[in-house]
Amino acid sequence: MDGNFNDNDLEKVVSADKAHVWHHLTQHKPFETGDPRIIIEGKGMRVWDQNGKEYLDAVSGAVWTVNVGYGRKAIADAVHEQMMKICYFAQTAGSIPGSLFAEKLIEKMPGMSRVYYTNSGSEANEKAFKLVRQIAHKKYGGKKTKILYRDRDYHGSTLATMSAGGQDERTAQYGPFAPDFVRVPHCMEYRKHELGLEHLSGAEFGRAAADAIEEVILREGPETVGALCLEPVTAGGGVIEAPEGYWERVEEICKKYEVLLHIDEVVCGVGRTGTWFGYQHYGIKPDFVTMAKGVASGYAAIACMVTTEEVFDMFKDDSSDHLNYFRDISTFGGCTAGPAAALENMRIIEEEGLLENCTAMGTRMMANLEVLKEKHSVIGDVRGKGLFIGAELVVDRDTKEPVDEKICAQVVADCGAQGVIIGMTNRSIPGRNNTLCFSPALIATADDIDAITDAVDNALTKVFG
Ligand code: PLP
Repeated sequence: MDGNFNDNDLEKVVSADKAHVWHHLTQHKPFETGDPRIIIEGKGMRVWDQNGKEYLDAVSGAVWTVNVGYGRKAIADAVHEQMMKICYFAQTAGSIPGSLFAEKLIEKMPGMSRVYYTNSGSEANEKAFKLVRQIAHKKYGGKKTKILYRDRDYHGSTLATMSAGGQDERTAQYGPFAPDFVRVPHCMEYRKHELGLEHLSGAEFGRAAADAIEEVILREGPETVGALCLEPVTAGGGVIEAPEGYWERVEEICKKYEVLLHIDEVVCGVGRTGTWFGYQHYGIKPDFVTMAKGVASGYAAIACMVTTEEVFDMFKDDSSDHLNYFRDISTFGGCTAGPAAALENMRIIEEEGLLENCTAMGTRMMANLEVLKEKHSVIGDVRGKGLFIGAELVVDRDTKEPVDEKICAQVVADCGAQGVIIGMTNRSIPGRNNTLCFSPALIATADDIDAITDAVDNALTKVFG
């Protein structure tokens, strides 16, 4: 830390935080007797808290965001320069970084064509939902309004995105929700026994899971279903990749019933899984792609809803219907800091070969965790893609009964005490947070990866013996 703060300043910060800040996803009761963690500074893979304690951050800012690591002067300089030129003008007009980043982004997304700027992942998803609803009115006589979403997937914290929320822990107590959002089953191979499908091989299960989506479309009536929204690798639902054959079949079903395919890349987007976008591993062509966290690695708030020229064209006629265009705005979609930061972020990923590093370090982390799985029977499954990895903890490998989330939290806390910040997830069922999760910055070295898995090894030994 650079020592700019003295102890008195820090005491004031902690007491102001305790008195006035409402932290996200946090039960505040423990702060009545203890202090919240305040993160003061970050550099590369490391952050420091108010007590000067150093941590290796294995989750890129807790929620899979800071893909290029902390303290990037080039991004700060680009944002500063842009702000001094012009900080803001609504996206009803264009901007230099907005135009240049859109062009750069589309270069990485063959088949896509138009970028709509907004400021959070939830909002980007809502833009796509609104387009689906408007297309239903423009093209299908108001009928194809239903949006399918998957059990275990998460698309945001607003009421509309929670209406498409497959994680019951997140949605409990917040209903009623918006109509015409319909849940379809997930494709989680590790828990296929819960669907009575344990006899199927991976590829057979992949196909069956996709077929289950078709069944829902047929049940609802294909003429009522406008879109299917999916995470390429499910994040908060437990870090889940689909089995072989799943995506091809999903795409086939969408084409067959004229259902638009919306891929939510809010977590996977911009390098997290070793390709620019998660869907690019599977050779599919979406109609909408939404992204947020890694777009500017958290250096500025920016999210994008990206679509095809075909969708864009539907909103581009000059007929007498004055409601014909996309009547939507996001005030802060006009902040120029976002695309200025995003351009630099992308340049860094390219010039430093971070996609390649992500793949290599992801392979190393998976291998390390597989070794831990041999040693600790509590690890039931290790899974993921690139530097987006989960280790699911179970009481018994045969029954796959989940470890209680309070015990899982002890593992996370012990890693924290060792100076390594890891996460835990799986909010699909209340009380089910039994999956340790790892998403270090794409700059991670072999030593960083080994330090993270060593800390997990120690913590598992301490908590489970
Ligand atoms: N979609 C996915 C897959 C996410 O994981 C998240 C947030 O974690 C969101 C959407 C919502 O993004 P935001 O918190 O920026 O609104």
